[in-house]
Amino acid sequence: MFNGILVEKDQQGYRARLTSLSSDQLPAGDVLVSVKYSTLNYKDGLAITGKGPVVRSFPMVPGVDLAGTVDESSHPLFKPGDSVLLNGCGVGEKHWGGLAQKARLNGDWLIPLPAGLTPWQAMAVGTAGYTAMLSVMALEKNGVTPAGGKVLVTGANGGVGHFAVAFLARLGYHVVASTGRLEETAHLQQLGAAEVIDRNVLSAPGRPLAKEQWAAAIDSVGSHTLANVCAGLQYGGTVAACGLAQGMDFPSTVAPFILRGVTLAGVDSVQRPREDRIAAWQRLSSLVDAELLNSISREITLEQVIETANELMAGKVRGRVVVDVNR
Ligand code: NDP
Repeated sequence: MFNGILVEKDQQGYRARLTSLSSDQLPAGDVLVSVKYSTLNYKDGLAITGKGPVVRSFPMVPGVDLAGTVDESSHPLFKPGDSVLLNGCGVGEKHWGGLAQKARLNGDWLIPLPAGLTPWQAMAVGTAGYTAMLSVMALEKNGVTPAGGKVLVTGANGGVGHFAVAFLARLGYHVVASTGRLEETAHLQQLGAAEVIDRNVLSAPGRPLAKEQWAAAIDSVGSHTLANVCAGLQYGGTVAACGLAQGMDFPSTVAPFILRGVTLAGVDSVQRPREDRIAAWQRLSSLVDAELLNSISREITLEQVIETANELMAGKVRGRVVVDVNR
């Protein structure tokens, strides 16, 4: 038996609880993992609270990220004792995920724990940091360099936003952080933001084109914010769009694209090929250090997961939350 969070949906409604599970309840897979740490991402908040249609089959153990040790494996790439990492691949949505002490998985979804990172640190990074890295790499692929001008990061106090600010700053960019929590300005500056702006200037309906302010942007917010980001990009600018914290809609016009040659680069972390995952994790492990990860992360127990998921959905969580599933 082992402990895990279980999300259920039936005539009694949608609910999540901490419960005891048995190994024979685990889904099919060729690798059994003892989970050491998981984390809470926005998507896990949606899955646990039921505020978004993330969970595709019930009952479900949520948790799109996990780090742990292989117990059993019939997959050619993994053997017992290996330290492994998983982000996305439908885990915590269609297949039982990381918010439990055991997980049985398809080995194709796993990558080795990157050298230089502990399981705790890998979960402090989690899908949030991995997505921020993919977003930075999407900007680079489109020719963005520090010499090109300012780079805007929206949702800066969120998990993706925190890493986007830190990675860009460490790569030498002039970072403009947009947030609804201006009281966190000093913290964002410590992460590397050169300027901090109020998200209200971006979140209301705007004009199709605005003053050209940023060479590039990483947007985890969507909706009017993304539309205003596109409208305010410099000629030839690129925005990496990776999130929908404000909304899934995109009330824009084609003006920024056809009049300013703006590029909208979509970033998906869930179905990313294995070689992209390994490359992003390798790159990000050279950009993070213990001091950064400790300064933006706090640890909770499995028992605190449901309460913390509600706080996350209320926008009250700053940075990252690591879940020690064994305590
Ligand atoms: P967090 O909850 O940690 O952060 C989201 C941040 O968005 C908040 O901290 C807040 O930042 C801002 N925000 C929240 N609500 C609003 C609003 N109504 N209007 C404007 N800004 C708002 O989530 P994550 O960082 O983990 O994820 C961010 C987004 O990225 C989510 O939509 C998530 O689903 C998506 N995502 C996508 C991935 C992909 O594969 N494409 C992978 C990972 C995440 P502040 O307080 O600074 O204003």
